[in-house]
Amino acid sequence: MHHIQHRTLIVGNWKMHLNVAQSSLLVHRLNQRIKAHRDVEVVLAPSLLALQPLSREIDRRKFRLASQNAYHKDEGAFTGEVSYTMLRGLIHYSIVSHSERRLYFNETLEVVRDKVTACVRNGIAPIVCVGETQEERRQGETKQVLHDQVTSALANLTADEVAGIVIAYEPVWAISTFGGEIAKPDDVAVALAYIREQVAGLYGDHVAASVRILYGGSVDENSVRGYLDVKGCDGALVGSASLNYHRFSSIVEKAHVLHS
Ligand code: PEP
Repeated sequence: MHHIQHRTLIVGNWKMHLNVAQSSLLVHRLNQRIKAHRDVEVVLAPSLLALQPLSREIDRRKFRLASQNAYHKDEGAFTGEVSYTMLRGLIHYSIVSHSERRLYFNETLEVVRDKVTACVRNGIAPIVCVGETQEERRQGETKQVLHDQVTSALANLTADEVAGIVIAYEPVWAISTFGGEIAKPDDVAVALAYIREQVAGLYGDHVAASVRILYGGSVDENSVRGYLDVKGCDGALVGSASLNYHRFSSIVEKAHVLHS
């Protein structure tokens, strides 16, 4: 299938690690090591608390920010929540439906759809995480799971809106903290092609060619190139290795292939 070449997207998901001071220090270290590359876009997803201070500290030529989550309503009596409306202007992207949110916080297909809708309504590009668990894989349900997760997450969006989002294929069994089995690039290729096919079936070839699809699951400085070389892979979502400035800057360096 035809596929538009984008800048390679490298996203660091810091999860529930690092307070504000520690987050600033990591950005400072990354800034010393990472150069601005025309062919790589680097996105950092710190805790919600660190987004505001980091938005003032980052070099915008090198880094963009993402939230790891937010609430789907724009405002109201929802004690303890932060909305995408509040994050507007602070972040370019938001990770939605990470497997930890699906599994630990019971995010259903409907919740995910509402969050994706809220992101787009607020001018934020969702990074929609999809992927099968070990059990689903064993049962041969991978395609069904990917189909259901992709179809429902995008259900409220127009074709134009879908063209601007990001989908991350994250097989749960390959995430370091869930099992950390190493996915083979050939298997990743099959899943990415299947996801792009789903988007083509629903929104047409043009949209499918534009939508960016990432791989995530135990990506590190040694494995990243193998995944980025998979046909149709537009980047990587990185968990553990994104907390280490040597490893994350090395991942960015390996993603950079255009030498000008
Ligand atoms: C993740 O949780 O999104 C992830 C990819 O984690 P890790 O890189 O640690 O497997």
